Amino acid sequence: MHLAIIGTGYVGLVAAVCFAEAGNEVRCVDIDESKLERLRAGELTLYEPGLEHLFARNRREGRLQFTSDLEAAVRASEIIFLALPTPMGQGGEADLRYVLGACEQIGKHLDGKYLESSSPDALSPKIIATKSTVPVGTLDKVRQALSLHAAAPFEVVSNPEFLREGVAVDDFLRPERVIIGTDSPHAEARMRELYHPFLLSGNPFLVMDARSAELTKYAANAMLALRISFMNGIANLCNACGADVDNVRLGVGLDSRIGKRFLFAGIGYGGSCFGKDVEALIHTGEQFQAPQMLLEATQSINKAQKQVLMAPIVEEFGEDLAGRRFALWGLAFKPNTDDMRDAPSLTLIEELTRRGAQVVAYDPEAMAATRKIVGERIQYAERHYDALQGADALIIATEWNLFREPDFPLMKKKLKRPLIFDGRNVYALQTMRDEGFRYHSIGRPLIEG
Ligand code: NAD
Repeated sequence: MHLAIIGTGYVGLVAAVCFAEAGNEVRCVDIDESKLERLRAGELTLYEPGLEHLFARNRREGRLQFTSDLEAAVRASEIIFLALPTPMGQGGEADLRYVLGACEQIGKHLDGKYLESSSPDALSPKIIATKSTVPVGTLDKVRQALSLHAAAPFEVVSNPEFLREGVAVDDFLRPERVIIGTDSPHAEARMRELYHPFLLSGNPFLVMDARSAELTKYAANAMLALRISFMNGIANLCNACGADVDNVRLGVGLDSRIGKRFLFAGIGYGGSCFGKDVEALIHTGEQFQAPQMLLEATQSINKAQKQVLMAPIVEEFGEDLAGRRFALWGLAFKPNTDDMRDAPSLTLIEELTRRGAQVVAYDPEAMAATRKIVGERIQYAERHYDALQGADALIIATEWNLFREPDFPLMKKKLKRPLIFDGRNVYALQTMRDEGFRYHSIGRPLIEG
């Protein structure tokens, strides 16, 4: 099929590469010329495991094009995906200006004319699919915005995206489910055909009304965020009463009604989705007079949790951290991504530097993205061990595999004191005891060292 993907960020680029991998011709549209230039030159603009070789192969074989020419991309394509940002607006709502603005532009090119290179399929009505996470009722607005200028029939579908950064390629190629919200049998059939290669293992292709599809995406993210905040609340109670959250987690997670996943305590959720999507769902609840109190609590617990490591740090060093030096392992909001949006490490950097501390950070992939946000307010180490040299303590903010089995004796040599504040519970308590570290973690007893 001939596809256009409008917005070539984390979702758009992964979707484009994976659709191309299944043999489709994909035109990626973006307004960021420097991004397009890099992609045309064969350089990936984000880090995502497994993306590089698929990107290279499909680019080489001509199934991927990168352009700012919206008109040509729309004319040449049968299905046009919107993978545009939906950032948090001022009142917490999803800001739809990118999505609806693009729809107005797309509508101008929905006039029944096609490029010569288009497939015969393109003679049927074009389908505009929202992959961006958008609130209930947005598909109606999308239809309206397209209708302002469209001179030919078109169809709209909601197609929420569930990929997880860090495993996005795998998630896209083998989704646990694909959800389509539409009342058009034609659009449903074409989407079913497009996704067929990704669902060969029998995972479901769910068709529902657009409002339910839109809400499903928010409900899924909110449920995940809620599990994290719930366990963080329990972790704080463990801290206060001397229990170990890892034991509680194991015991709770073995109940098949609850399940083991997404129950890890830590320094809070971040990333481009959870915070803004939970906030947007709270806003939607207000709009429909169906308040989402659980989600308000979820967000406020998370806000506090991003600061939770500061208490033991202040306990060890006092409020004034001038002259102190901290090694910070991990910057990205989670492992296997370079995405720094809303990363808990940023809260730590803010708090530490505000109190006068020096921070020397290391992250395998996210240092360039961090530099764009905090610049030279912190130092960046070339290797994770270099960050430890002369530091008063190590803080862990992201659980990259690289940090899991380090050379503890070497760490002790480099640190001024064998002291770790672990925001991701990376090490076993017994290991810390055996290796002679003083070890603060989340919801687990202090190892005195
Ligand atoms: P992103 O910021 O990484 O990418 C958005 C891209 O759109 C950017 O490259 C930007 O330059 C481009 N853009 C902006 N305006 C444009 C326009 N008018 N025309 C063409 N391009 C334009 O965002 P993302 O993380 O890919 O998220 C996109 C959407 O998908 C959001 O609604 C998000 O909530 C949702 N989503 C994200 C994830 C994720 O893990 N990142 C997962 C599921 C859903």
